[in-house]
Amino acid sequence: MSQHLTTVAGVTVDTRHFIGGERVASADTFTDVSPIDGSTLGEIARGTATEAAAAVAAAKAAFPAWAATPRAERARLLHAVADGVEKRLEDLAMVETCDNGALLRSHRRGVMPRVAHNFRFFADWLLTLEHEDFDTRGHTNHVSWDPAGPCVLITPWNAPLMLATWKVAPALAAGNTVVLKPAEWSPLTASLLADIAAEAGLPAGVLNVVQGYGSEIGDALTSHPDVRRISFTGSVPTARRIAASAAAHLTPLSLELGGKSPLLVFADADLDLAVDLAVEQYDNAGQVCLAATRLLVEEPVAEEFTRRFVARVARLKQGDPREEATDIGPNIHPRQLEKIDGFVQRALAAGARAVIGGHRRDGRYYAPTLLTDVAQDSEIVQEEVFGPVLTLQTFTGEDEAVRLANDTRFGLAATLATGDAERAARVSARLVAGTVWVNCFFVRDLRAPFGGSRQSGMGREGGTWSFDFYCDLKNTVTAP
Ligand code: NAD
Repeated sequence: MSQHLTTVAGVTVDTRHFIGGERVASADTFTDVSPIDGSTLGEIARGTATEAAAAVAAAKAAFPAWAATPRAERARLLHAVADGVEKRLEDLAMVETCDNGALLRSHRRGVMPRVAHNFRFFADWLLTLEHEDFDTRGHTNHVSWDPAGPCVLITPWNAPLMLATWKVAPALAAGNTVVLKPAEWSPLTASLLADIAAEAGLPAGVLNVVQGYGSEIGDALTSHPDVRRISFTGSVPTARRIAASAAAHLTPLSLELGGKSPLLVFADADLDLAVDLAVEQYDNAGQVCLAATRLLVEEPVAEEFTRRFVARVARLKQGDPREEATDIGPNIHPRQLEKIDGFVQRALAAGARAVIGGHRRDGRYYAPTLLTDVAQDSEIVQEEVFGPVLTLQTFTGEDEAVRLANDTRFGLAATLATGDAERAARVSARLVAGTVWVNCFFVRDLRAPFGGSRQSGMGREGGTWSFDFYCDLKNTVTAP
């Protein structure tokens, strides 16, 4: 087998970049390790400014023909990519689980079907994009969504292919070409996507994938003068660096960042539902940007809520994410575990109480943790942990609930559990969040805007909002 191929759970993955329709190696590599058992998955091409420049050049060269490709043909090709994803669903699910440690059952049933749906949805939405012409003293105003050019898409490791295709699909549908850089902790499925796209007939250079450390290849991508859009999902500190780099050419940015979202449980809520919603926050071992990690529970039901919550968490099975019965898998990397434990130990030292958890489990697992007796201005309440760690605070009445919920520099999402529809409407209106879920969690419709307020992001993607970002909107005014 070529030194550039690796086999993961029986699936062959090319570890090189994919630039201009060709596989391209780098002088150097980095080691990709499985969070499940620490085994080596492959030696991945370690991109530098050279590969960044080559990928942007390939995207630039492919842009005019792709932008001129009729919408219906672009849509057909994106559906062909979706077909390819569905055909290789099992491979993608297994490789992703080995690479980032998220549950195989979720990848099979939820995530990978959604990856295919990302392509189908934006292909179909493209065909419906139409703005009504309007009249100004007999002149016609016609608004069009013109392709913008090469787009750089940078994604994190917690939901690698799902988050990548949430950007790749609309960017391509819009008539742009793409350079995708997946996270170095989960590089494999992006490489499989390159194979799938090529097989589906996507022209060379339309989708390019580069691998490597953000600190080594990132700047060359985000400061490149030929890049017309940058869409980034990841942490706030990286977003700051990208924004500074993009400032060189004022390249438009879409930022989907971290969160510290609240779950508000009112005394009139269905408590079993509220407990279910709270337990869901441990999904993906807590490595979910949208996770409602701050449980805010109304005083009269706090004790009963906690009792039921603890009983439910005791039944969760933590272990190998490839096993069907597993509820919580490993955390992505020893560094991430250090970070999680650091937050928890500092909180405990500051007087917090661990109702459950508060420590590591062997290997790469962190015990699902609930901390109480935490101060509103403490690190554990204000900073994103990105692990299976929740805090619980109590409140009395709507005003205090809203005050605590909004007292954060983030604003990605908020969830509330209440049996009173009027209260739900009142409280939702006062919450600062890109998405508010009432008596539910994680229900996503790709037609809806998605993004964060405050430091949780900049801009919105989804439906027409995605096309607004990835296109140069143009108004053509024609005299009578
Ligand atoms: P990260 O910011 O460390 O890395 C994200 C990506 O940025 C990686 O591909 C990385 O290689 C790249 N990168 C790093 N430095 C760079 C640079 N200087 N220039 C260009 N690219 C660079 O984030 P992470 O740890 O991979 O992901 C976790 C974070 O992502 C959390 O904060 C989480 O909340 C957030 N997230 C947000 C959403 C959302 O939709 N809002 C979704 C998932 C994750």
